[in-house]
Amino acid sequence: MERSYFSAEGRLLSEPSKKEIYDLLLGAEKKKRRKIREEILRSVGVDEEHFEEGSIKIDERTCRGAECKLCIKACPTKALYWDEGKVKIEENLCIYCNACVLSCIVDNCIVVTRKRKNGEIERFGTPREVILLMERQAVQRRGGALKEIMAELSKSKTGEH
Ligand code: SF4
Ligand code: SF4
Repeated sequence: MERSYFSAEGRLLSEPSKKEIYDLLLGAEKKKRRKIREEILRSVGVDEEHFEEGSIKIDERTCRGAECKLCIKACPTKALYWDEGKVKIEENLCIYCNACVLSCIVDNCIVVTRKRKNGEIERFGTPREVILLMERQAVQRRGGALKEIMAELSKSKTGEH
């Protein structure tokens, strides 16, 4: 639980240490980023697979830049943009969706690392890695749907409806 430094009347109860101030600022920054992401997600109609934490890197040495720009076109939140002859990232806008990795013509030119809500860390650097994940998710969804159907069938057999 977050420690409160103020009484109900707004009186300072105790002086926070430097570390506590730093942690508070960090927490506020995280909350701000989360809010921005949530708003962006809503505006682009993405309401699942929402990643709060992650990182994205573009390797300028291998990027085909001017002759390509496919990642910029693919990004749903406009986190990628063209500036001074390079692809640049506004990471506050990135939702770690992997659309850029999926469209990139050079393996490991863009690398996205993201953390799931259950703490699992995933890393993607090639379209193949993104496609494998999508296939795995589709299989899981099919498995879940099948389980529900089987449960419904067994209920109707035993006359539970
Ligand atoms: S992962 Fe790539 S495509 Fe997705 S929001 Fe971030 S920069 Fe855009
Ligand atoms: S898709 Fe890949 S190679 Fe093309 S501009 Fe973007 S990062 Fe560079």
